[in-house]
Amino acid sequence: MKAINSIRVVFPSRSANEGFARITAAAFASQLDPTVEEISEIKTAVSEAVTNCIVHGYADELGNITLQCRLYEGGKLVIVIKDKGRGIENIEQAMEPLFTTGDTAERSGMGFTIMESFMDKVKVTSKPGIGTTVTFTKYIKSRG
Ligand code: ATP
Ligand code: MG
Repeated sequence: MKAINSIRVVFPSRSANEGFARITAAAFASQLDPTVEEISEIKTAVSEAVTNCIVHGYADELGNITLQCRLYEGGKLVIVIKDKGRGIENIEQAMEPLFTTGDTAERSGMGFTIMESFMDKVKVTSKPGIGTTVTFTKYIKSRG
């Protein structure tokens, strides 16, 4: 299926860009006339995925994060967030609620669980030393 519309943005893994990515995805999604709740779900999921690239993928170094948003027929929105950082050894385990390799005082291990609860589909592909790609699919119902 060919996308009707798409954007691609590349930015460095500075924490200031987490807000930029979240707003960019929400602005792209706005052409589907989503509800306030749907916008908020998109922002939260993108924020969790981009934060993961910054704190886990690149940890103490800086690297590029790519955000892609694509729109297909039927209100299908696909959002891809990609880093070329550390990667994930065991994806299944990483996606379990409360699993974290981070500092437990700061991280609760709930990022993937939150993404899955707000998106219709969450796909994660990753290779240690190569990077991680998170793909969201969300269907925005037409209210017209
Ligand atoms: P929280 O999101 O609640 O602050 P968290 O980031 O540890 O905590 P998740 O977002 O669910 O929890 O991620 C679980 C684990 O998956 C992380 O602790 C990390 O080990 C791994 N992970 C997630 N995203 C990436 C990434 N982009 N690169 C490398 N590792 C990642
Ligand atoms: Mg997280």
